[in-house]
Amino acid sequence: ATALRNAEPWHIHLADEQTEVERQISLMGELDVAIDLGELEVVYQPKLDLKTDRITSVEALVRWNHPQRGPLRPDLFIPMAEDANRICDLTLYVLQRTIDDLAAWCQRGLVVSAAVNISAKLVYSNEFIDKAKRILTETGIPRNRLIFEVTESATIDDPSAAVAALQHFRDLGIAISMDDYGTGQSTLTYLKQLPLSELKIDRSFVQHAHEDANDALLVQSTIDLAHRLGLRVVAEGVEDRSCLTFLREAGCDLAQGYLIGRPTSPEEIREMLTSHTSLAA
Ligand code: C2E
Ligand code: MG
Ligand code: MG
Ligand code: MG
Repeated sequence: ATALRNAEPWHIHLADEQTEVERQISLMGELDVAIDLGELEVVYQPKLDLKTDRITSVEALVRWNHPQRGPLRPDLFIPMAEDANRICDLTLYVLQRTIDDLAAWCQRGLVVSAAVNISAKLVYSNEFIDKAKRILTETGIPRNRLIFEVTESATIDDPSAAVAALQHFRDLGIAISMDDYGTGQSTLTYLKQLPLSELKIDRSFVQHAHEDANDALLVQSTIDLAHRLGLRVVAEGVEDRSCLTFLREAGCDLAQGYLIGRPTSPEEIREMLTSHTSLAA
């Protein structure tokens, strides 16, 4: 059997590749339909305020439960939506759902803000800005309850253009958060120029900060730097209690991660906001 397989490896390889390409194409078509039919789900992951020990903010994360393949990771289908020019529609859908859920929470007197992830591609898209503006003018929720999370890659290519583009969102009353900070190559002057409110330290630095001296130093100095620039700091990917303790002592403002809560339904978020489970050390 081995000999046979080795006889025409080229042929077998090509066949495999073809099915993979076909799979991708059919998945792209299905994603198109899922976006149009509103079949995507939005779940929310809480951010814990380390000063008050309360959940004050959540992040919207999109989910696609494929009828045959089961749950698909956004890391797989977000790039697909970007390539197929459907990321604008997908993001507007997530934004609308987030605004609706925020409105429901606010109606119950709950004080919370919500973040939506914005792909690099959309930061400079007039179509996205115009349509987002339209959605926002139709809603009654206070605009200062919304945050847009953008990554360094969205802003690094042309800093002055990024400042102007992000200012459009700021003019709408939306706060800007720098996501996955530390994985890109932002310079300090550049960080100061952008109209940011929040900086999220990437999980890869946070996760071992309580046990690795280098990571601890990086996290601590990032927190200090961000504070000097007037930014609020979120540590993402907090999985351990000792990590949370480290972050509190380091003066971090907010923590997000599986320890605080996994991404979950709007109903469960409502319950979390109502009951406010304490994570005090
Ligand atoms: P992100 O914005 O950096 O989101 C954080 C990711 O880390 C989420 O994965 C979250 O579930 C995961 N995570 C949170 N806490 C922990 C933890 O303690 N440990 C570990 N190991 N992981 C944790 P998810 O939901 O799979 O999203 C992955 C990425 O997909 C996001 O990264 C974001 O870049 C993108 N994404 C998700 N939803 C959207 C969306 O609506 N629009 C856009 N443009 N991108 C999205
Ligand atoms: Mg994010
Ligand atoms: Mg992140
Ligand atoms: Mg990430």
